[in-house]
Amino acid sequence: MIQQEVDNIKQDLWDLSHKIHQNPEIRFQEEKAVKWQTELLKSHGFTIDTPFAGLSTSYKATIKGKGEGPRVAFLAEYDALEGVGHGCGHNMIATMSVGAAIGLSKIVDELDGEIIVLGCPAEESGKGKVVMINNGGFEGIDYAMMVHPSTRNLIGRGGLAAIVLDIEFRGQAAHSKEPAEGINALTAIIRTFSGIDTLRQIWKDDARINGIITDGGTAPNIIPEYAAARFTVRAKTSKYLSKMVEDIKRVVDAAALITGAEPQIKQGLMSTERYSNAAMGKTFKENMATVGEIMEHPPEGLSVGSSDIGNVSMIIPTIHEYIAIAPTTVKNHTKEFAQAAISEKSDEMLLKGAKGLAMTAWDILVNEKLRKEIYHEFENKVLEKS
Ligand SMILES: [Zn+2]
Ligand SMILES: [Zn+2]
Repeated sequence: MIQQEVDNIKQDLWDLSHKIHQNPEIRFQEEKAVKWQTELLKSHGFTIDTPFAGLSTSYKATIKGKGEGPRVAFLAEYDALEGVGHGCGHNMIATMSVGAAIGLSKIVDELDGEIIVLGCPAEESGKGKVVMINNGGFEGIDYAMMVHPSTRNLIGRGGLAAIVLDIEFRGQAAHSKEPAEGINALTAIIRTFSGIDTLRQIWKDDARINGIITDGGTAPNIIPEYAAARFTVRAKTSKYLSKMVEDIKRVVDAAALITGAEPQIKQGLMSTERYSNAAMGKTFKENMATVGEIMEHPPEGLSVGSSDIGNVSMIIPTIHEYIAIAPTTVKNHTKEFAQAAISEKSDEMLLKGAKGLAMTAWDILVNEKLRKEIYHEFENKVLEKS
């Protein structure tokens, strides 16, 4: 029955997916995408709250059942990549979450609880969900779920903790024929890079860091008075990532001590590791089987990225599963993937993804035993570790 409800609105869903795809908007500028999603949700009886959680391109759409009960949120992402458009296929993520919510809303009168769509902007580089969490946007929500287009059908994939560090040094300019008159800020940056290379020897194998020099002076006959670098740091857990940041701070202090330059470190928002709820994942897998899709766990050695969904998974039971829309030779964040995200295959798969999400939410809303299983796992696996 839920499947039929999603099929009934398939043309509207395809139109929404294609419109967002053809009008790519980057982080925190996703105005059209929010307008189109909220208009469709409103026309199906949802109450819309936007701007939401302190972000102008965030929204919350809610529809209530016959009584109090669990509050299940479908998370919508809809930001594009600069220069590549929808090379991550977020037009499909938004459409699947909106489609699942509308499909399920047709039987909301029979259910206790709430169906919610949370519009989450700026996944690619703004950590929109972290800002939303900090502003209370996830308060009162009991379960979060979303589906991401991919080249494989996957459940239970994790994610790394990640942070961006901006490191700056301020020294003293001087003519290069009199270097002793100056304080070389670039030398301090170079010392920082070599110090970090030393840290690689003591860090765990899975620790990852990469940096670029964003400012290295203006001319070779001037001792640079200012130099700066930007690093992306990743680790398996936010706990280990915090330790790495402390190590890096010591390296920066050492570089300052050697050169006399004044350091400054700016830390970006941290995205945490991701805990995919296995009980929710298993339910999603069973539901996807009813639409003819086999879901698998990630093969050994498949690389994992970082996303702000990790932070959500630390506060409530969460799934972020993947459906295949292109062969494994097509890489995410490319023009080829963007093409795949508006193909006939993607239109077919987004209906299946929406159905899988809607059926999983229905299972949670009606099955108390499943809810207990989900929370038992969440409390044991996530709350204990963090
Ligand atoms: Zn992406
Ligand atoms: Zn993405």
